[in-house]
Amino acid sequence: MTTELLKANELHKVDPVFGQVSFDGHEQVVFCNDKDTGLKAIIGIHNTVLGPALGGTRMWNYTNEWEALNDVLRLSRGMTYKNSISGLNLGGGKAVIIGDAKTQKTPELMRRFGQFVDSLSGKYITAEDVGMETKDMDTVNEVTKYVAGISVDRGGSGNPSPVTAYGVYMGMKAAAKYKYGSDSLEGKKVLVQGIGHVGEVLVQHLTENGALVTITDINEERVNQVATKYGAAIYSGDDLYSAAVDIYAPCALGATINDATINNIKASIIAGAANNQLANEAIHGKILKEKGILYAPDFLINAGGVINVYSELVKWTNAQVMEKTENIYNTALEIF
Ligand code: NAD
Repeated sequence: MTTELLKANELHKVDPVFGQVSFDGHEQVVFCNDKDTGLKAIIGIHNTVLGPALGGTRMWNYTNEWEALNDVLRLSRGMTYKNSISGLNLGGGKAVIIGDAKTQKTPELMRRFGQFVDSLSGKYITAEDVGMETKDMDTVNEVTKYVAGISVDRGGSGNPSPVTAYGVYMGMKAAAKYKYGSDSLEGKKVLVQGIGHVGEVLVQHLTENGALVTITDINEERVNQVATKYGAAIYSGDDLYSAAVDIYAPCALGATINDATINNIKASIIAGAANNQLANEAIHGKILKEKGILYAPDFLINAGGVINVYSELVKWTNAQVMEKTENIYNTALEIF
């Protein structure tokens, strides 16, 4: 969390939830606690005007509960925007589980979480986010039907990340068209930060289409694997924001565009998968505009995943999913 948000949270301790800096008229915030499994989770339901609130569950080792609450409030609001701009009959919600997904995630914990989701009777539908896999959603599905993104052999749509990556690629092409006059990314220098489920597939689209890709990740082993597999360069400086690239693609966690980084950014386009890339939308969005940096809204261009997940509920075919994801290109151009 940025120092700014921490300070604001200090001020709002007297009204710890409704007075929280990221509280934005959310309909419901559910705190889930289970002694036996160690589950500590927060479900944020931002808005259900368009339909049930759908959004993934993130498991992350938050430094403190303020960080977790702030994250779920921001992420669930982002889902309201994402679902509505994508034309889906869904509201916005999201959940966070506090803990280390590598060491603290157990089937019992996931089932208990699923029971909490079930207790909301369909007002919130969960899916995967950072720290979750399709098989975790299958476990949740053992105790509730209010889950999407389950595996194909259970009748689900499987891992949404490749579709998310395709949508980000489409959004990036639209940004290039607007900024450079052509949507070809051939020869464009792209820095991809975070080469997880989405980042790796994005690297694949980019390298297949002639972009000059540089990658960075806190997981060194993955960096080496992905660099070798796709012929990408590995970033090696001490300030990646000042890297001389055309396009910066944040595909790790949010808020990387903040007070400390914004003035260093050399890229002329920012287009990536991470949710909530701007630490403060009102301030940092305006600064990017003044600096002439084109920002492709995260909630628009990373919507491929939710489109894929939604297909499970409305029985769209793969072709329909890809067509709707490809349309991110047109929506992005319209917005620019
Ligand atoms: P992931 O967990 O598979 O990958 C994230 C990667 O980022 C990991 O490799 C991790 O090591 C790396 N990382 C974390 N902190 C980093 C840092 N400070 N610097 C560099 N690398 C760092 O997650 P994912 O599913 O690929 O999602 C990536 C982002 O896209 C997230 O913000 C997620 O919320 C968003 N998103 C994902 C989907 C989806 O379909 N998976 C859909 C919409 C949005």
